[in-house]
Amino acid sequence: MNGIVASKGIAIGKAYLYTQNEIEMDMTLTDDVEQEINKYNTGKEKTRVQLTEIINKAVKTLGEDKAMVFEAHLTMLDDPTLEENVINKVKEHKQRIEVAVSQAIEEIAAIFESLDDEYMRERAADVRDVGKRLLFNIAGIKMQSLDSLEEEVIVIANDLVPSDTATMDVQKVLGFITEVGGKTSHTAIMARTLEIPAIVGTGTCLSEIRDGDIIIINAIEGEVIINPTDEELKKYENIKQKILADKKKLELLKDLPAETTDGYSVQLFANIGTVKDMNGVLRNGAEGIGLYRTEFIYMDSNNFPSEDEQFEHYKTVGEMMEGKEVIIRTLDIGGDKGLPYFKFQEELNPFLGWRAVRMCLDRKDIFKTQLRAILRASKYGNLSMMIPMIISIEEIEKVKAIIEECKKELRAEKIPFDEQIKVGIMIETPSAVMMADKMAKEVDFFSIGTNDLTQYTLAVDRGNEAISKLYESFHPAVLRSIKMVIDASHTAGIPTGMCGEFASDERAVLLLLAMGLDEFSMSASSIPIVKNIIRKVTMSQIKEILEYVMELNTSEQIIKYMDNIVLELLN
Ligand code: PEP
Ligand code: MG
Repeated sequence: MNGIVASKGIAIGKAYLYTQNEIEMDMTLTDDVEQEINKYNTGKEKTRVQLTEIINKAVKTLGEDKAMVFEAHLTMLDDPTLEENVINKVKEHKQRIEVAVSQAIEEIAAIFESLDDEYMRERAADVRDVGKRLLFNIAGIKMQSLDSLEEEVIVIANDLVPSDTATMDVQKVLGFITEVGGKTSHTAIMARTLEIPAIVGTGTCLSEIRDGDIIIINAIEGEVIINPTDEELKKYENIKQKILADKKKLELLKDLPAETTDGYSVQLFANIGTVKDMNGVLRNGAEGIGLYRTEFIYMDSNNFPSEDEQFEHYKTVGEMMEGKEVIIRTLDIGGDKGLPYFKFQEELNPFLGWRAVRMCLDRKDIFKTQLRAILRASKYGNLSMMIPMIISIEEIEKVKAIIEECKKELRAEKIPFDEQIKVGIMIETPSAVMMADKMAKEVDFFSIGTNDLTQYTLAVDRGNEAISKLYESFHPAVLRSIKMVIDASHTAGIPTGMCGEFASDERAVLLLLAMGLDEFSMSASSIPIVKNIIRKVTMSQIKEILEYVMELNTSEQIIKYMDNIVLELLN
């Protein structure tokens, strides 16, 4: 079976089918009240045991505050109105227990949803969450989750939402395969950050693989082998060992600068999603954080994270980086990134819809909570703010006005923060590219988000495997856009970084270096690979290469030419 390599490597292990099945309901009526109530009580006790285990584990791994969420689940489980309602449905309406519980849960969730208070409204998701667990336990079906796996596995799924990857037990997941998704879908990005081999966009694979099958993920060539022969096992075990050995070699570069042989140096930063990613950052010698995708804090939570909660995250990362720059991107939600507790309107084109800064400007309450948390944390580290999905100067002005408002409040409250905190924008829309010269006068830095810039420039959905061949950051239109942005920023005297995946492609690195890109930010595991290639070239050599490439007409020609260059350099 073939697919798209989302995160390079080889993984060998047992298949774990992650299908998030629903319970089938038996709608026939029953007179056996006692049997149904017994099933309810057994299911409820099982749920209580599970939740208690989750709480104990969460206190250790996620901290007291996160564990509170599951305490609340326990309270809901014991809610007397739930029990009364369920028993009534069984006794009076002769419903089977699964149907009774499912309806009772929906009724309670609907009451929460109809309340004015936003916090209470969001509790509906919790009610449904407990309800689902209870239902699975009543039916005696094991509920799937990736956060408490019993053994090391290879996860096979139709798709993984970012919150699956954010909460999954990284010690146990050796690799994953998804039927849908592209190279820059957020699941793919998470896999690279976590350094887990992954293949996405395989098309139907769930029906071809059974739980427990032995799987080889060859995430070098984008191939999945089901129940391999002994020879195949041996071959891929050897390749896996070689990859590990190569990685060890590159580790020796950790403390050396990212500098060409003629002394031109750039900064190599890391992209992170959560504090958990900091291990990789420190291990790979990142010189800063070029993109902190804060939406993962929101996705890994059961309601909008409070100012204090966010402050703790930002402060921790700031302190861990010991004075090195940490660029915190403000909430970039919508598109392919949903929230378990917040209902986005159905949109025909979510990637062109109510997302990122658009949502933040409409929901000033949510935005200000985050901005205040970043400002407060700026006292404890070298933090900057970065705004995603900007398309106009008006948006920049509005954002700056809200930041000013937050600063004013903090001054009045006598809460210290860095008065000089830098504010930058992501360049990820064609409109920002065209306006780069003007925008450069309004902000402190740019960071090019090539994942989105490629999809918007080429009008190719980054997550749609059916058109993944068209999604190409080496398209001359994208390369010209990047060059325009870097030139415009330098004319205005501000730096440009790149935090899209393109910044970690060895072939692209040479071109970007020659264009004068100031900072490259990527999954931490890519830093040694990028540093290695930078340390093999001279500036004049790559300037010539760039000049040639900018004259080529097609991505195919560019890629072919750059493939050869990289091959020569590395051999
Ligand atoms: C990008 O679009 O390139 C980017 C870095 O942001 P994200 O991948 O989170 O959309
Ligand atoms: Mg983006």
